[in-house]
Amino acid sequence: MAPEPTPAHRPAPATLADFLQQAREAGLDRLDAQLIACTALGVSRSWLLAHDTDALPPEHLPRLMDWLRRRAEGEPLAYLVGDKAFFGLTLSVSPHVLIPRPDTETLVEWALQALAGLRAPRVVDLGTGSGAIALAIASQRPDADVTAVDFSPPALAVAQANAQRLGLSHVRFLAGSWLSPLAGERFDLIVSNPPYIAEGDAHLPALRHEPRSALTSGPDGLDDLRQIAQQAPGHIHENGWLLLEHGFDQAEAVQHLLQDAGFTDVSTRFDLGPQARCTGGRWPGAHRG
Ligand code: GLN
Repeated sequence: MAPEPTPAHRPAPATLADFLQQAREAGLDRLDAQLIACTALGVSRSWLLAHDTDALPPEHLPRLMDWLRRRAEGEPLAYLVGDKAFFGLTLSVSPHVLIPRPDTETLVEWALQALAGLRAPRVVDLGTGSGAIALAIASQRPDADVTAVDFSPPALAVAQANAQRLGLSHVRFLAGSWLSPLAGERFDLIVSNPPYIAEGDAHLPALRHEPRSALTSGPDGLDDLRQIAQQAPGHIHENGWLLLEHGFDQAEAVQHLLQDAGFTDVSTRFDLGPQARCTGGRWPGAHRG
């Protein structure tokens, strides 16, 4: 006897409009459903909006339905479609890297301001992941000498592929922990969005698809920020800047870390949230630039 149809076995969508409707019923928001359809079919959003009563080409169905199901189960859209926009760049992402957040654009803007008066500045991005920060800076400052470091070889491969695709050849990639692969080198700017979530934090289940090593950092979330603050003085030029992203409730702690390490002009900036999102300081020098 044929099994009774169950709600999980709905008829396959016949048109794009049917697919979008099924996606909405599965809990996807409209934009995510549209972006899934656009990526699977290789069409623009405006094309999609004008053709939603077209018959759905059956060869696209397996991927469309797989992405619908995975998005409904909480997998981030960026991992399904394979890219994410950041600071005007389209970056490829995979589950080996944290998905770039708009919040981090605050850090890039601050970095570009810190570099404004310098010619051919030396910059390092620690824990680069997809390469977001390093590549955003490199795209805005073709004269900069940019280094990107990551502990994870597969993450570094994602960042390197992004640099190549974007034609940003003036970025060097190094594997290692924070500043350890940079013995004897100094920079005008050290920038990082390290892991900063406390182990056991209530937000972690919602982030379960992203690499845990890019998210958590000890019982208070500050282990890696502490290490970077301690290592940075050995790698920074006089008047150089250290700029760090952190959690919304960590500004005071990070200010103290930077002050204790000897940084001056320590201050905090807010993201569009608006949450306290990055704290930075300047390494003292004889001549102020
Ligand atoms: N900002 C990210 C989040 O809370 C965490 C990024 C990080 O740990 N560096 O989703």
